[in-house]
Amino acid sequence: MKIYISVDIEGITGVTSWGETELGNSEHIWAANQMTKETIAACEAAIEMGAKEIVVKDAHDSARNIDISKLPMGTSVIRGWTSSPESMMAGIDESFDATIFIGYHSAAGHNGNPLAHTMDSQKAVYFKINGEIVSEFTINSFISAYYGVPVVFLSGDKMLCEKSKELVPNMETVAVKDGEGGATFNMHPNKACECIKNGVKEGLKKINECKIQSPEEFKLEIRFREHKDANRARYYPGAKLIDDHTVEYVARDIQDMITAKMFML
Ligand SMILES: [Zn+2]
Repeated sequence: MKIYISVDIEGITGVTSWGETELGNSEHIWAANQMTKETIAACEAAIEMGAKEIVVKDAHDSARNIDISKLPMGTSVIRGWTSSPESMMAGIDESFDATIFIGYHSAAGHNGNPLAHTMDSQKAVYFKINGEIVSEFTINSFISAYYGVPVVFLSGDKMLCEKSKELVPNMETVAVKDGEGGATFNMHPNKACECIKNGVKEGLKKINECKIQSPEEFKLEIRFREHKDANRARYYPGAKLIDDHTVEYVARDIQDMITAKMFML
């Protein structure tokens, strides 16, 4: 069994402020340490369930957060950015049996996490696909689905876990924290690791029930904070401005959509 794990930081237990998410900031040290522990919990569970190969994508900001020296044997890690459309999912392909998301967070436009955002927090107010606000989890799950890889587990904030069940009803989720306004209400960090370990094991028992149905087409809508960014984005071939801050692009599949997104943001 071969497992792909994409790890973000804003949905890691305890993480509440941007300072904690930035490499080089003194507050980042414990957050990156907890991110490492939650990743280890997922890897250990996968190994216990028979995984022979695990690829971990460090998928936040610098993409150099996880202490890879602490990960179990059998895991390999993708650090930094490929500068390709798959971004937080770089390295995934048809050879994987299941995808796992750790430390993911609510979408831009939602109150479930003080750090709620989608992709570029400076530029985008929200992302929609076919009229619905989407999170990075949703976009990345469609990338996984493109290769036929089921999504079996998600950990992050409570609102994201609840909303994501609409897309993948049978996957396992662990809400390590809840968010309200600028605050987070957290589980004990060790308890979170224990729950992630158990949840990943349960998820991997249900691989066949966690396949994702992709829509026929992807109507992407990006609302920009600045009208100048929307004006720039509308020059992507096929994109159109629907109001001064909002650009729409109808993509034939998720690869087409994420390529448009890469150039429009
Ligand atoms: Zn992030």
